[in-house]
Amino acid sequence: MDNCIFCKIVRGDIPSRKVYDDGDLLAFHDIHPVAQVHIILIPKLHLVSLMDADDSHTALLGKMLLLTSKLAKEQGLNNGFRTVINTGKGGGQEVLHLHIHIIGGNIPPMVRRD
Ligand code: AMP
Ligand code: ZN
Repeated sequence: MDNCIFCKIVRGDIPSRKVYDDGDLLAFHDIHPVAQVHIILIPKLHLVSLMDADDSHTALLGKMLLLTSKLAKEQGLNNGFRTVINTGKGGGQEVLHLHIHIIGGNIPPMVRRD
């Protein structure tokens, strides 16, 4: 997709700090990290969001999810990490190319109950 930021990163039209690259997937550091580690993992295929995924994407999505652990460990997150997938307007998705946020370091629980 011509105007998609993440497709531009895939094509090398805009720079990124890559941590993983294969035929299907690319991972790079988020430009505005919310924690000590904040990686964005994307399929190279332009898929807008989880709402646009179907049965033909089962293997791709599985591969992405399994890779999250590997990348998190490589980033030193041996105690655990958070994965976030914002989906559509209602989910606060800003970049309309499916991505998994891999976040870790000293992060608080997601839901505060007090
Ligand atoms: P979302 O709100 O789930 O769509 O998240 C989009 C994420 O992409 C945000 O955390 C941004 O900081 C990140 N982002 C946007 N542009 C870039 C870029 N050029 N390189 C790395 N991360 C980016
Ligand atoms: Zn794209």
